[in-house]
Amino acid sequence: MAEKGKHKVVLIDYDEALFAPLGFEGEMLAQAGAQWEVHQCRTPEEVVQVAHDAEVVVIQTVRPLLTREVIAQLPRCRCMIRAGAGYDSIDYKAASEFGIMVCNAPTYCTDDVADHAIALMLGCVRHLARLNAAMREGRFARELARPTRRLRGTTLGIIGLGRIGSTVARRVRGWEMRILAYDPYITQEQADKVGAQLVSLYELLTHADFLTIHCPLTEETHHMLSWDEFATIKPGLILVNTARGPIVHEEPLVEALRDGRVWAAGLDVTEEEPLPPDSPLLELDNVILTPHIAANSPEAQEDLYRLICEISADVVQGRIPRFVVNPEVLDHLRPAE
Ligand code: NAD
Repeated sequence: MAEKGKHKVVLIDYDEALFAPLGFEGEMLAQAGAQWEVHQCRTPEEVVQVAHDAEVVVIQTVRPLLTREVIAQLPRCRCMIRAGAGYDSIDYKAASEFGIMVCNAPTYCTDDVADHAIALMLGCVRHLARLNAAMREGRFARELARPTRRLRGTTLGIIGLGRIGSTVARRVRGWEMRILAYDPYITQEQADKVGAQLVSLYELLTHADFLTIHCPLTEETHHMLSWDEFATIKPGLILVNTARGPIVHEEPLVEALRDGRVWAAGLDVTEEEPLPPDSPLLELDNVILTPHIAANSPEAQEDLYRLICEISADVVQGRIPRFVVNPEVLDHLRPAE
């Protein structure tokens, strides 16, 4: 229960192995007149139980736990924060209807995800996973490194030239690659700043030697790469996805990886997470898999919890916080009690 006269900020779940709270949050929020609680909810019922009296609800999972039904049972909530960049685990349309702000934490891991995407790209082109596996089996199997490719002069395609996509572009400029981007929501002037040329999705698919995905998962981007798109790609593509698994339809991807149209893939995210043990991706040695870990670094962890505390402090002290993703709510915000 919230202490009398205190605002309650509740973290309903967290990933111990990735981004557990650091311990400074209670003190930071106490200074703002709020009480900080941490729980590990697995079900909607548990969420309602711990969050029914909270003014700010923080969610870490990418599973859709803050549904319309749950949101309807949180009468004091004025702000929901997704402890991450993507906010598809919150029904933000329902939140808007209830007068609740939804914020994300989009800046804490931009560098880390860009670094990870590049690591996957290099890991794929230099065959790092299978060479490493062979060495550990006692095989000095240099033939496994063929064919490889020099990056200079090749084309990198970026889907979604926002924070992370732009950071990738800035980093790879020095490698003298041509950079194409597909992003219907930015201008060529914005793309010019990171040396990218905006093109249609079709042009991107037909020209890219490397393709890296950095758009959000929305109705529009769900299965954005599916049968038609894998039939369109330039053969020999190296595909990297650190955004969200369902942006790529896995069945045609697996087929394209088997027949070589996609030469290799580096995936931090998959359609189902955790990856099921019978996933065909596990049988393919031209795939590098990581467990949705691209954001990880101690710096990111600290930045994330500081940002959550700053947003929460703004809410409980009556200010409009940064990173409201449903600004339409601001003209009918739920009043504080
Ligand atoms: P951002 O909002 O800064 O950039 C997203 C870009 O995608 C924007 O420029 C937007 O215009 C563009 N976009 C939107 N719809 C599009 C469409 N239909 N086609 C092409 N482009 C489109 O977000 P960001 O900080 O760069 O993060 C991007 C995504 O990365 C997040 O939404 C999140 O899902 C994912 N992410 C993953 C991890 C991880 O741990 N693997 C961590 C952080 C973020």
